[in-house]
Amino acid sequence: MDAPLLGAIDAGGTKFQCALARGCEQVLVSQRIDTREPASTLRDVFAFFEDSQLQYGVIDAFGIGAFGPLDLDPQSASYGHILSTPKPGWSHADLLGPLQRRFGKPVAIDTDVNAAAIGEIERGAGRGLRSLVYVTVGTGVGAGAVIAGSSLRGLMHPEMGHISVRRDQRDQQFPGICPFHGDCLEGMVCGPAIRERWGVQLDALSAEHEAWSIIAHYLGQLMSNLALMLSCERIVLGGGVMTSGALLPHVRASARGWLNGYLAPALLRGDLQQYIVAPELGERSGIMGALSLGQRLLA
Ligand code: ZN
Repeated sequence: MDAPLLGAIDAGGTKFQCALARGCEQVLVSQRIDTREPASTLRDVFAFFEDSQLQYGVIDAFGIGAFGPLDLDPQSASYGHILSTPKPGWSHADLLGPLQRRFGKPVAIDTDVNAAAIGEIERGAGRGLRSLVYVTVGTGVGAGAVIAGSSLRGLMHPEMGHISVRRDQRDQQFPGICPFHGDCLEGMVCGPAIRERWGVQLDALSAEHEAWSIIAHYLGQLMSNLALMLSCERIVLGGGVMTSGALLPHVRASARGWLNGYLAPALLRGDLQQYIVAPELGERSGIMGALSLGQRLLA
């Protein structure tokens, strides 16, 4: 029997990446849809899946990884809805219901970063592990975790980008840009916070510029805190600020400093090169994880 036909959506603030696949391995067709307001964005998403069905057959299940904050409580009346967000038009938008009604098939939903963590642990940088955290540093900072095979959810979902961080001595004046906390981790290291301080993105600065080690000073705290709090076996660090790969060694060095020899020697071997890594699936971590979410509904 053929593997099931799966629809997947990686719903982000700038684009909705959609894919149709046979099982999780064989992506048949995919499309990028620019994120506008909910009605017209979802109309294009539906059109993509309807056209795909005409060509490949009836889709068996869907998986969505979405930007948040999201209601992930299946008992809640607003399960699968976006909660209050500064993104115009998207507060309380229902992502799950319209797809379920339109296609009459099961739909799974999780955060975009939890989906990316699932993608990386199943088919990327975390293959064979039981736990992994995926962190994205871009327009914002977000993180998702897989622990013992399941994505981490609780009261809502983790919002690790908003942890408090200790200041770098060289960075005392900048107030931070988080509208809620000012100088939380996201407020200090996201792409817009970097541009606000130094006028350009990190990759445009020389290798000797202090910005590299300042940003790493903060991200290293998240790495160390994750290792200490979750005891995760690997951390995958993705997102626009990480893309060139130049920041990664700085973050490893910073994390090593914050841990200061704590935790098992195995973790510290090789300057954390096996512990803090780039995404193996590149920009496809989220969509691959969304396919897995759909497939799990059929298992
Ligand atoms: Zn914050």
